[in-house]
Amino acid sequence: MTDRRSDDVQHDPAAGVAAIAVPTREALEAHLAPYAAHSAQSRGRRYPEAAPSARTEFQRDRDRIVHSTAFRRLEYKTQVFVNHEGDLFRTRLTHSLEVAQIARSVARNLRVNEDLVEAISLAHDLGHTPFGHAGQDALNECMREHGGFEHNLQSLAVVDDLEEHYGAFNGLNLCFETREGILKHCSRDNARRLGALGERFLEGRQPSIEAQIANVADEIAYNNHDVDDGLRSGLLTVEQLAEIELWQTHFEASRRDFPQIEGRRLIHETVRRIINTLVVDLIDTTRENIARHAPASLEAVRAAPALVAHSDAIAAQAAALKRFLFKNLYRHYRVMRMANKARRVVIGLFDAFTEDPRLLPPDYQSTDVTQQPRLIAHYIAGMTDRYAVKEYQRLFVIDDN
Ligand code: MG
Repeated sequence: MTDRRSDDVQHDPAAGVAAIAVPTREALEAHLAPYAAHSAQSRGRRYPEAAPSARTEFQRDRDRIVHSTAFRRLEYKTQVFVNHEGDLFRTRLTHSLEVAQIARSVARNLRVNEDLVEAISLAHDLGHTPFGHAGQDALNECMREHGGFEHNLQSLAVVDDLEEHYGAFNGLNLCFETREGILKHCSRDNARRLGALGERFLEGRQPSIEAQIANVADEIAYNNHDVDDGLRSGLLTVEQLAEIELWQTHFEASRRDFPQIEGRRLIHETVRRIINTLVVDLIDTTRENIARHAPASLEAVRAAPALVAHSDAIAAQAAALKRFLFKNLYRHYRVMRMANKARRVVIGLFDAFTEDPRLLPPDYQSTDVTQQPRLIAHYIAGMTDRYAVKEYQRLFVIDDN
């Protein structure tokens, strides 16, 4: 005769140790605040599936993203510096991991769904072209007459359609809340086309707190790692950064606290303090906003103004850093030279495939001429930096072997 308690913690007489009780899916999220996205209340998947047995719906989404082909490609896609420029610069993959790390810290402190923020963070850049923003701008230009190209929408296309991993459906069949978080921006035209997912852009409503966190964590991550990579590459100097309050405050504090350190170590100490300041400010300010608006559910979060935010003072300092990076790093002549080459590769590939679609791998050829440009865009967007360069060489370079 077993009572209720011995069901919860079963005893294995052979091993002589207590087996770990299996938590219910509700128990895995019992700590969440009422305004969090609870996976049991998800608006569901495009193709209905049985509930997972050992994890929550959002954990399953996160796992599918990590196992996707597009996720592995992020390793060889440019953030700012092209992969071959150095082994220590951020790639889209390490960027996405840093975003997830920051977003999870914030989520845990606010008692919202860490698994959902992780899924959104890891997927947010899946649709990026090779060569960072230069690649996306060039592809958008090529696609101007055919509906344009936008990396947020492309990330959604990857998880909704392009991945071929499962027998029952195309794409990863992720939950509505994960897809909503991936779609950070969207034009009104595209929003109309997207049905339920596009509604918030037409109605001026917010996404979940988890989506809002992933969005701000993205900015915190790239502002800081671009400073770090900019200094590492020599395109930025510590002297230039002295005009930026957010940098200088923490640089001076680091020197004061550790007068013996210098070089890379001093830079790392400064950057980690900046990240910490931004994260703590984000948690504190968001907590105040939540207290003020007291959203009792995810639906109330959608109807409220954006709740995840920095304080005015820190927001102004972060914006100044962002402007500095734009002017001094993203527009640096050496970055512009690389961007120019990237542009030539993307436009060259697009034009060659458009002129003669028979040059495309068969999967990307279409008998429908109206569909052909989008398939070309999918093919190019899926390329890593080095694959794009190789493909360009295969099409345009005649060598002697
Ligand atoms: Mg990003």
